[in-house]
Amino acid sequence: MTLDEVKCKFPWTDVVITERGAVGICCYTITTSPIGDLNKTPLPELWNGEKMKAWRQAFLRGEFAPECHQVAHLCPFMQKH
Ligand code: SF4
Repeated sequence: MTLDEVKCKFPWTDVVITERGAVGICCYTITTSPIGDLNKTPLPELWNGEKMKAWRQAFLRGEFAPECHQVAHLCPFMQKH
């Protein structure tokens, strides 16, 4: 599967940061599955880290990441599929 075909591009395009420094991929997963904390880890390290690699690989297999399933009731991309 190519990047053009993935069900959601946020893992490649977006980042959400709270006022306390928590980093997430979207507003739906920021509280349930943050990818890290800017007070402890620089953003490039989080963006290229193992959590993000696994998240992107799930999408490239044509799946949603496990973190997405936790918020399926909120995410419009998941409700479309
Ligand atoms: S929860 Fe939805 S918006 Fe967030 S990364 Fe997963 S599919 Fe994309």
